[in-house]
Amino acid sequence: MNSRLKIERIKKTLWELREHETCCELCPRECKVNRKKGEKGFCQMGREPFLSHALLHYGEEPVLSGYGDWNQEKSNGSHRNGSGALFFTGCHLKCPFCQNYQLSWLNQGKQVTSQQLAEHMLSLQQKGALNINLVSPTHFLIPILEALKQAYKEGFTIPVVYNSNGYEKTEVVQKLDGIVDIYLPDLKYHSSSLSQKLSGVPDYFPKASQAILEMHRQQPQLVVDDNNAAQRGLIIRHLILPGMSSDSLKLLEWINSHLDSSVCLSLMSQYHPCFKAPPELQKCLSPQEFHKVLAQAKKMDLDTLFYQPEPFSLQEHLVPDFSLPDPFGFGK
Ligand code: SF4
Repeated sequence: MNSRLKIERIKKTLWELREHETCCELCPRECKVNRKKGEKGFCQMGREPFLSHALLHYGEEPVLSGYGDWNQEKSNGSHRNGSGALFFTGCHLKCPFCQNYQLSWLNQGKQVTSQQLAEHMLSLQQKGALNINLVSPTHFLIPILEALKQAYKEGFTIPVVYNSNGYEKTEVVQKLDGIVDIYLPDLKYHSSSLSQKLSGVPDYFPKASQAILEMHRQQPQLVVDDNNAAQRGLIIRHLILPGMSSDSLKLLEWINSHLDSSVCLSLMSQYHPCFKAPPELQKCLSPQEFHKVLAQAKKMDLDTLFYQPEPFSLQEHLVPDFSLPDPFGFGK
């Protein structure tokens, strides 16, 4: 879709979403607060966007970062441009073990205008970013769309990645048809008691699974360019939690029975106990559990499967520190 059509599509969606400024139901929390008047709902965020970092991210899936660092099948990332990540403050899910807790729970970040967001998008594109990676975008969807509209007017061309915790409303995702190029949702839990216990929402799976079906309808196939950089598609991320691999297997079963082999799955082994992780999650994933889930994923014969290496130890981890200008240590 060319820029002019994208701008028209964004304008339409903005018009349709405006009511959420005064009665916010952008996510399944449906707080109904007037964010325009400064009322705050579960995400604790007002109408104006807060941003923690805008940076080139080299640790995303190879097709997003252009950095062949992960074990992968039927894929070969070979260049190193980075994904243009915009890390937003706040979250509408807030898992107590979140590795980005400085943003999701502690609200670290600075208020920016939509114009400044657009400038970050254009600046990351200028630096060679393969895409703009909107990390936790849902609660700031309206100002993000305003920024994208402006960026397209000023020459923005790279794919837009919607990097979400998966707890989304299908009707909101429907409005992003023609705007989002690559969906990157988590699929965290199958069991409602587990999602209730760990993230305080019993309806995680019904919401996330329906939203993912809609994402798949819009972007059924991972499309890459000659440099193996993703242009369109859906990449489902699953972080395997220690001691909970049976729930992971149920999610794989659901993917297998509801989506075809064109879906791209990204299995993550990097769990590390952070922030307020409950006692049962005060450990890392065992290699045995990781291989059990990985073996099942391999049996699904997906066109594209990414997976991280064997789990890390408690001493060795990938937890970013967002109090630093270079939270991932990419500059080292
Ligand atoms: S985006 Fe925030 S205020 Fe709006 S419904 Fe979700 S949690 Fe509530």
